Amino acid sequence: MQHQTDMFVIGAGPAGLCAALRLQQLGYRVVLIERSTVWPRSQIGEALTPGVKNIIDYLDANEALANVPHLTRLPTRLSWRSRIAETVAHADAAVVDRSAFDAALLQLAQARGIEVHRPASLNSVAGSAGDWQLSFSTPNATHQVQARMILDARGRQSSQSQQLLCAPRLSALWAEVAENDIPSELAHVTLVEALEQGWLWGTRLPDRRYRVMLLSDPVASRRLSAGRPESWLRGSCGASRLFAGVAQLPFQSPLQMCVATPYMAIDGWQDGRLKIGDAAFALDPISSSGVEKAMRFSLQAAIAIHTFLQAEAPAQQTLAREFYQQRLIETYARHHFWTAAYYRQAWCSEQAFWQERATPGMIAAPGNREAGLMIETLQKEIDQLGSYREPAIEAAPEMLVHQMIRFHHLVQIVSLPCVVGDKVELLPAMRHPHLERPLAFWENEAILPGLGILLQKASSASVLGLLGQSMSLQKARRLLAWLWQRGLVEIASD
Ligand SMILES: Cc1cc2nc3c(=O)[nH]c(=O)nc-3n(C[C@H](O)[C@H](O)[C@H](O)COP(=O)(O)OP(=O)(O)OC[C@H]3O[C@@H](n4cnc5c(N)ncnc54)[C@H](O)[C@@H]3O)c2cc1C
Repeated sequence: MQHQTDMFVIGAGPAGLCAALRLQQLGYRVVLIERSTVWPRSQIGEALTPGVKNIIDYLDANEALANVPHLTRLPTRLSWRSRIAETVAHADAAVVDRSAFDAALLQLAQARGIEVHRPASLNSVAGSAGDWQLSFSTPNATHQVQARMILDARGRQSSQSQQLLCAPRLSALWAEVAENDIPSELAHVTLVEALEQGWLWGTRLPDRRYRVMLLSDPVASRRLSAGRPESWLRGSCGASRLFAGVAQLPFQSPLQMCVATPYMAIDGWQDGRLKIGDAAFALDPISSSGVEKAMRFSLQAAIAIHTFLQAEAPAQQTLAREFYQQRLIETYARHHFWTAAYYRQAWCSEQAFWQERATPGMIAAPGNREAGLMIETLQKEIDQLGSYREPAIEAAPEMLVHQMIRFHHLVQIVSLPCVVGDKVELLPAMRHPHLERPLAFWENEAILPGLGILLQKASSASVLGLLGQSMSLQKARRLLAWLWQRGLVEIASD
């Protein structure tokens, strides 16, 4: 018998679970399938950036995740800009047991009423946007579901035919050693080291294992190691300064490897099917922010879906899709840009591995119109990031209360899709070369139309008076000072 749902989510990684939880909070019925027969399944990607904590708060999932084994306050011993290592504190980052993390989120999803099927394999998808007919199998049954939307959260297993490869190929090779075997000076720090042919990452895991991982070019590594991955990993450790003590230790686990090449999906939102998390874009693991970005993007996709389904006019549906697409491009472009800069900083940056990654640029894409448009938009975003120079914040002369001021002549007012409550709305925003991107909110406060008075000349007292109607006078003063110091407001000369 066929039963009905609003959302059909494929994949129980952080992206699928996060979107499922948020959409369920927004009032939708959600069915989620996960294909893994082993659960909790083993999973890499355990170093979580501080932003994950905010997302967990937002999903009200703290209690559910309280017992997930994790380590905090591990400093990083880093040999990147120079061969001389430095130690960096990471007070808010954590290394979690990712299998337990994903499992706890899945349990929470079930507890909140999300219908979860695992292990389940998808048999077929038919129908069209708003009216999908899906068939999937669990060990004892075949299920038919009718769904309004499909969310593809299959991670790197999602379809690869429509992907922009935006960086040279990268592969990860890793093994685990027993924590007891690790020299004590290494056991309580995360280690990161740039080597001529790639980089090494090592950390203690919450379950007393120590993982050492090598990221390198798969073609070069095959050539240089004559296809012997273990000697490639051990040799790289041996040639390093920080990992030399690990090079000859017995491996507790079989050697593992995976593709780690960053990419972005071209067909992110197609007629009622959306990709989220690594299915939509995979980041270079160098930032250890894949989980955070996958979860954050899922939340944004949930808002886009909600806006789309509640839209009263086609224009709102277009806005929802634009918002999804903009967030996808923006997240990816920023990361891509940041990654290239980070690769440029390495002490061995003149080596081919580093040179190839040091310039943000497109590598390969299918030759279709959609891919062409995507490349154009992505390139524009990357160029914009490249041309932005943070303004020098000088101690500007104090603005006098009755001084006549106005927006700087280069300020433009543009429309920007923003999240307001649970939906996407088009809001007015300021654009200026001194702003990295259009600004609609300042300290969670919508700045327009309040500041619109500065399109003409006005006394600072009257601007403060107007802003003071929607925020405290103190905050209004700080806002005006902020604009003034960045050169976004100028003295009106006539
Ligand atoms: C080498 C490497 C190191 C990394 N290190 C870090 C790190 O330290 N920190 C960090 O934040 N990120 C890291 N990442 C990135 C991080 O792992 C991912 O960004 C994150 O797991 C993405 O979450 P996701 O939910 O999109 O996908 P996944 O976590 O991959 O989840 C996808 C789920 O979908 C399921 N699935 C797949 N196909 C199907 C199907 N047909 N039907 C049903 N279910 C299906 C899978 O079994 C899986 O459970 C790393 C990535 C790599 C490659």
